[in-house]
This record gives sequence, C-alpha cells and structure tokens, in this order.
Amino acid sequence: MTDSPATRGIDPALLHRAAARFADRFPGPAPRMTVAPGRVNLIGEHTDYNDGFVLPMAIGRAAVVVFRPRADRVLRGHSVAYDETREVRLDALTPPGGHDWLSYVAGVAWAFADEGLATTGLDVVVDGDVPIGAGLSSSAALELATARAMAAATGLAWDPVRMARLGQKAENRYVGMNCGIMDQFASAACEGGKALLLDCRSLATRPAPLPETAAVVVMDTGARRSLAGSAYNDRRAACERVVAELARRHAGVRALRDVTSAQLEAARSGLDPVDFRRASHVVPENRRPVEMAEALAAGDLVRAGRLMNDSHASLRDLYEVSCEELDAMTDLARQQPSCFGARMTGAGFGGCAVALVDAASVGAFCDAVLAGYRARIELPAALYPCRPEAGARLVD
Ligand code: ADP
Ligand code: MG
Repeated sequence: MTDSPATRGIDPALLHRAAARFADRFPGPAPRMTVAPGRVNLIGEHTDYNDGFVLPMAIGRAAVVVFRPRADRVLRGHSVAYDETREVRLDALTPPGGHDWLSYVAGVAWAFADEGLATTGLDVVVDGDVPIGAGLSSSAALELATARAMAAATGLAWDPVRMARLGQKAENRYVGMNCGIMDQFASAACEGGKALLLDCRSLATRPAPLPETAAVVVMDTGARRSLAGSAYNDRRAACERVVAELARRHAGVRALRDVTSAQLEAARSGLDPVDFRRASHVVPENRRPVEMAEALAAGDLVRAGRLMNDSHASLRDLYEVSCEELDAMTDLARQQPSCFGARMTGAGFGGCAVALVDAASVGAFCDAVLAGYRARIELPAALYPCRPEAGARLVD
C-alpha cells in the first residue's frame, strides 16, 4: 500500500492510522482509500479575484478518506482529528450546513446530488496531515478526497476540473465559505513533479515542471491573525474602484487583468493614492505566475527566486498585507546561500511563507531558518520541505 504511485509523497504512518481506525470503528469487508493533497501557492497573490494567474503546487501533506459503501442512504463519518463519529441522511442534506468537519464531507455529497450525479451511503473515516487553518488548504484536500471516494463508490469517471468546481460549490454553498477555485483545482488536478499555472479567468491550466534540483519549503510562521477578513474586503473594494476608473478610459477593461502598467500610470491622477498603490501590486503580480512558470521550465531558478522576492516586496510595501512574522521568516530564508527566493503565500497577516531552495541543502536550510526564527519570535513555527505531488488519487 505504501510504495505505489498512488501513495507517493504521503506519510505511510498516516495511511496506516486511517486504515486502522476504519477497521476499529467500522469492522467488515475491506474498505477502499483516497488521498488528496493540500497545496501551496508559489506566486500570484491576490490575483485570483482580479482574473489573473496563480501558480499552486500540491504538497505531500494530504487528507485521507477510507470508505465502504452502505446499502442505505446514510453517510456515517468518523474523524480521527476530532475523535468523533456522526451521521447524516443523504436525502436530508440542504444548504447551508455547518462549519464543522462533517459538513465538508456532507457538502460534497450534497453537491454531487445538486449536479445530478448519483450518490451512495458510505461509512468513512477522515484523517489527514495538512495543518488545519495554516493556509495550506486542508479544507479543499478533504473535499477532493471525499469527492474521489464518492466518484469511486458510484462508478463515476474522475474528471478533475469538474470535481474541483464541485468541491468549490460544496465549500461556497454548503459550508458557507466564499473561497475561490485555486485550492480545489490544485488538489484535484496537479501532476507529480509539476506546479500548475492556472488562469483564473478561463480556468485554462498549464503544468510547470519544477527542476529536480529544487525543493520548495513551506514555512509556517505560527501567526494567526483575525484582521485578515476585513483587510481582504478592503483590498477587493480598492481593486474594484480602480477597475471602474480604468473601464471609463479603456474599452474592454473588466478586471485588473486587462490593465497594463502604462495605463495604470496614466490614470494615476484620477485615482485615490492608496487605491493606486494596491493596483500597482496587482498589475505586475498578475503576470508573475506566467513568468515564473517560464523560468521553472527553463531551469532558471535564480530568475524564479527573484520573482518570488519581487512578489513579497510588492505585497509588503504596496498591497500591505505582510506582517512582522512573514517578513522575518522570508528575510531569514533569503540569508541562506541555498535559497533562490522567498515570499509570503496566502492572503497575508500570518500563516505561511514559501521558499525556493537548492534540493541538496534543504536540511541545513530548514535548521538554520527555524533556529533563527525561534531566536526572534515565540510562536509555534514549522517548516515543511516539499516536492510537487499529484492531485486526488484512489489508492487500490
Ligand atoms: P484551511 O486553510 O486549512 O483550508 P479552513 O478553515 O478552510 O482552513 O478549513 C479547515 C476545516 O476543514 C477544519 O476546521 C475542519 O472542519 C476541516 N478539516 C480539514 N482537515 C481535516 C481533517 N484532517 N479532519 C477533519 N476535518 C478536517
Ligand atoms: Mg480552506
């Protein structure tokens, strides 16, 4: 079970723990198992709602669903993380559900039915090692592992793009979280060894191979900030005001995606100075994922790292969504000779940063950055070295 392509990159202890819990709680015929990864966004921050590009990569930390169909229409779930068993009736699911762990599972079942797809009762154990609420998208991982399980149990052919949309629908409508499509897309559709360039307007994708000589290190600052929500709404509103002004000047401008740096500069006097600064982050950032995908494909890690550093400076100084911990972590990363570049990732004000590192030196890099961070900041930081893993998989 542990050395097949389907489980590559996944901690074997996690798979064993989930399988053992299933055997303990739901004894009977052998179950099946799915895994779906969390993700980290390499570049393209606050670009999704501006119709721009993002460059996520699936990581080796994943949600696991162990499942066996039932003869009735009951969905009975056990969570290892919450040590809790609960059940719902499939035919009684109506949005909105709750925000608890079972709602992510039930929400996917609801979304299947809402899309006119067959559903079946299931016994499921859910487990995972994506840190919850750290910005690595444990929720999308759980949704896609559940979707993979429901598809396998009902004989539905796996369609990653359709299932990414279905996972997003479950989270938007059933759980009631207004997330974009990137997390579900990465968890559904990534290929091993490759990041995924995603056009948030057309949903077109292009795989971007990460050179074998490079590792990605996810760096959790341990900081969790609550002001992220209101700041996020402020930033979105600023972008919309700039689009309204630019659309008056140029036909065809629907989003900051459609605006060039020269057009933005020419409109400067008609814009609020803070709004101008926000847009001055988004316009170049919208193109950085395309440039970084090209740099990675060309094996140019120096250029890829420089783009990450530029992105961080822009998020810190122009979009103003970084914080002391993210700046400290990325500074420490850049001080290591093995580091090509580092930036905050996710909405900001805490959570994770990401670094591009020489794969041969990744152990020394992690030791030095973690020691430096702990000497300065008393928070439970954690570093996760990663290679790009594949999207949701059935383990048979
Ligand atoms: P994240 O940034 O990690 O996606 P969210 O708040 O969007 O954070 O989603 C976290 C929620 O997803 C958890 O509160 C829990 O309900 C559910 N969840 C994620 N992973 C698991 C897991 N392994 N087991 C049970 N529930 C999980
Ligand atoms: Mg989430």
